[in-house]
Amino acid sequence: MIFYKTDEEIELIRQSCLLVCKALAHVGSIIRPGLSGADIDKAAEELIRDHGAIPSFKGYGGFPATLCVSVNESVVHGIPSETQVFKDGDIVSVDCGVFMNGFHGDSAYTFPLGEVDEEVMKLCRVTNTSLYKAIDAAIVGARIGDIGYTVQQYVEREKKYGIVRELVGHGLGRELHEAPEVPNYGKRGKGPVLKEGLVIAIEPMVNQGKKHVRTAADGWTVYAKDRKPSAHYEHTIAVKKNGPDILSNHKMVEEAMSSNNNVQTVVLEEEATA
Ligand code: MG
Ligand code: MG
Repeated sequence: MIFYKTDEEIELIRQSCLLVCKALAHVGSIIRPGLSGADIDKAAEELIRDHGAIPSFKGYGGFPATLCVSVNESVVHGIPSETQVFKDGDIVSVDCGVFMNGFHGDSAYTFPLGEVDEEVMKLCRVTNTSLYKAIDAAIVGARIGDIGYTVQQYVEREKKYGIVRELVGHGLGRELHEAPEVPNYGKRGKGPVLKEGLVIAIEPMVNQGKKHVRTAADGWTVYAKDRKPSAHYEHTIAVKKNGPDILSNHKMVEEAMSSNNNVQTVVLEEEATA
């Protein structure tokens, strides 16, 4: 069942999302080749706990860390470790969740480190842009299928990218994952109707190659079967009368990145081609 949120509850979810983005911004300010997944995980966990909050992912289904850190061909759910050392040219997807005041927040960002192949940068831009297109479709009276349709239309217009099917966005609130599921593909006019107070995480996961994924021997890391790079951007949003309200804040993350020479800014595709 779908739990619609009151304005007060949405503000609490926003606070959790802003702390998530504070943690992602901190990651964006320090991430560089030579650092490990464990390093950024530790930094994010400290920041979250210093704010009196709890990392949502740690212990969730047995997941051992605060962040999911997924490098290059890893799509999502990568386990940060000391042996996972970032290299120049990597793209590092960092997903973070926070539980505070009874509500979760959830957001993710893919950081391109150093000299990244232009085709891989484009993958990041297209994935990030598809997220904002999808958010624009999340209006009262639309349907969940309209969101997935929008992502798919945008991402597949060049026919070369693969949208991951096995993993989807989701409702969230008192639980990290609530109904409804929010796929990144779909048909217009299908699925649950979006009503005021619906809070969902929209999170396109796009492969440079084919859509097929596998799970690694660690039981968590999902990677592209053809081992080509994959990008992931996620916002938590509330459906409101006046339009979608983005509760997470990537501007905060991008501002922090702008002072870090080891990471490249991911502009939207329109800005890149303008
Ligand atoms: Mg997430
Ligand atoms: Mg999520």
